Parts: sequence; structure tokens; C-alpha cells
Amino acid sequence: MLKKISIVLGILALIISSVILFSQGNEGGEQKKKITVNMYPAYELVNSIINDDYQVELINEPGLDAHDFEPTGKQILEIQNSDVFVYFDGIGEWEDDVISSFEGDNQPIVVNLSEKVDTLQLDEKDSNKHDDDHEDEEKHDDEHEDDHKDEDKHDDEHDHEDGDDHDEHDHGDLDYDPHIWLDPTKMRELAIELENELGEDIVDSKKVEEYTAKLVGLDNSFSSALSQCNQSKIVTSHEAFGYMGARYGFEILTIQGIDSTQEPSPMELAELVEQLKTEGLNTILVETQISPDFSNLIADEVDGVVNIIYSIESPQTSDINEFGGYFGLMEENKKVLTEALGCGKI
Ligand SMILES: [Zn+2]
Repeated sequence: MLKKISIVLGILALIISSVILFSQGNEGGEQKKKITVNMYPAYELVNSIINDDYQVELINEPGLDAHDFEPTGKQILEIQNSDVFVYFDGIGEWEDDVISSFEGDNQPIVVNLSEKVDTLQLDEKDSNKHDDDHEDEEKHDDEHEDDHKDEDKHDDEHDHEDGDDHDEHDHGDLDYDPHIWLDPTKMRELAIELENELGEDIVDSKKVEEYTAKLVGLDNSFSSALSQCNQSKIVTSHEAFGYMGARYGFEILTIQGIDSTQEPSPMELAELVEQLKTEGLNTILVETQISPDFSNLIADEVDGVVNIIYSIESPQTSDINEFGGYFGLMEENKKVLTEALGCGKI
């Protein structure tokens, strides 16, 4: 009798567990096709316009500095096995390697968003701290007098070594600003480009219409909020806001340059402090994923304040929840910029 009961119980348990498994496997209907994206702004963009057959997987987890991020083996597999891989180029340094690892028949469709819009070119002043080297090289190129033949040869070798070292630390030959999403009009262009490239099987044109209309509204509200300001410059921790500055007419001074992993030298910090004092700038804008140490130091020196601005390249989950993703964080940016630039008459 006992044996019989235990067999019945065993069968029952099997039935229950298979029912649970079955229902889990079918949660939300049929399994969705997968689009992987490298970083948060690409996640928001793609997630806002795709149809219900697809789901988006964000590879660079929220809160981790995107300039410093490396995917795990499991994440690389996820990208390899996805249907589409959409990415902003130039922030991380791993995407090209992952794309070149694709092989076989069912390779993901690859969309490099950074190739789809006109990008902001970096001039020598912006690109980094090796200005002097570049100037030397240029000067040197102009001087081709026979008298200096031996010296030239020596300098050539020397310059070359410096150049190679420098490339390894500084996003290779990146000559444009990769923080494209901070101009809403560029995001609008990208939504339309994605629709054209991926087609109606993947992208819902109605969603594109709604999403792009929202971006136009955001752009208009930025333009009017920042139209009349007392200041024309802001100070930020790393150089992420070039597109905003270009679109809405302000200049950006930065502590750490285009790559947030670079640290300023004491000399550069001193020069910046001097400039801020001369120009009467006393608000330092720092991003949450970056250590505020340098910003605090400079704020102390100029008797200023440190406020938060969002580059949205890798926002914290708490910030996404509190402010509602890209649009909410851009609204926060608008407020903080309005204050830092002294735009009073809105
Ligand atoms: Zn950045």
C-alpha cells in the first residue's frame, strides 16, 4: 500500500514539475528572437522601435563604465547566438573582436550605429594630452632640410614609438566623438536608419513615428531652455557632451578628456583651475559612473559646486528607475545645464 502511494506521489510530482517547466518555457508566448546591443543608449533606441517578435539584451550592465567594459565569455556567446547585434562604436574596445569571431551560416545582422550619422570630428586640442607630440610631428614634417638628415631619422623612430604607445591607451585611431546619442536629433536619424536597414520584420514603423516625435519634442525643449544663457562654457568630468554643445551652442571644458579612463596630470589640473578662475566658471558637472575625486578637488580650488550630469552611456539602474531612462535623464541634463550655464529667461 505504502509503495503504491509513493509511486502515485512520484508520478504526481513528475506531472506537476513538467507542468511548471512547460508553463515557464511558454511564458509570454513563443520564444522571441534576440537583438543584442553593446550599451544602454543603443538598448533604449532599439527597444523603443522593435516589434513584439523581438527582445533586446543589453551587454554592458548598467553602472559599469562603458569605456572600461569587457564582456564575459557567456555574453560573447549571447551576441554570437543573437539574430541582430546593434552597437555604438568607439566607446568600448571589444566589439570588433566579437564581430570578427562570428562564423557559420546564422551570423547576426550587424549594425554599427556610429556609421549611420555624421559624427563630430575631434580636433587635436580635444583628442588628448599629447598635443605637444603632434605639434612636434607636424613641425618636423615641414622641415626636410639636408642639413638635418641624421637628426630627422632619429626623430622619426622616436616619434613612431611614442605614437604606438599612445594608440594603445587611447582608442586607436578614433578621430570622432563617439557619444552620439546625446544629440536627440542624431537619435532620431538613427531610429529612421534602423527602420530602413532592419525592415518591417523587425522594426514597427508606428513605434518609430512615436519615438522620433518624442525626440523632436526633447530637442525643441533643449533649444528653448538653453537659448539665452549668461555662460557659454561648462566643465564636465569626461568629454561626453560635444554633441550637445554643438547642437545647443555651448563649449565644454573637461577634466579627463574623451576617454573616462584617462587621468589628468597635476599640471593639467592646475591649468584648468586657472582657466576656471579667469572665466568665472564654478560649476563642475560629474557623471555617476566616474569617480568625483578630481571634480571635488577642482571645485574646492575654485570655491565651486559639483553637480551630476548624465552621459547615459551606462546609467545606474537606480537612476533609470528614478528618472525613466533616456528621456528622463535628458530632462535632468537640461535642468543641470540650465543652471550651470545660467540660462534664466526661459
Ligand atoms: Zn564616454
